[in-house]
Amino acid sequence: MYNVAFVEDDKCVAEKGCRLCILYCPEADCIRLDTRKMKAFVVVNRCKGCDLCAVVCTAAKHDAIIMAPVNGATGEIILGAHKAEAAALGQAYQ
Ligand code: SF4
Ligand code: SF4
Repeated sequence: MYNVAFVEDDKCVAEKGCRLCILYCPEADCIRLDTRKMKAFVVVNRCKGCDLCAVVCTAAKHDAIIMAPVNGATGEIILGAHKAEAAALGQAYQ
């Protein structure tokens, strides 16, 4: 199990010109712009899980990138645990 970056489309503001994650990612062609959706997306098998994209996205107050575990056997991103955790944190502020 290892972590990779994952862009949450509803929070990404690439359509407004943001490219911070793409500029800061140290891996070539790893985080890219989907020109159809105008959202950033991560090429899972290139991501090294360094967290830099999430740090710059959060610093810019977009919070669109989460680090999510990947199933090493299937290459599938496991989002459930993070979303459950986020929901629990959200409830704490209600
Ligand atoms: S830094 Fe965040 S908001 Fe900006 S393009 Fe990347 S994912 Fe989208
Ligand atoms: S975690 Fe690192 S390698 Fe992966 S997309 Fe973000 S900046 Fe690039």
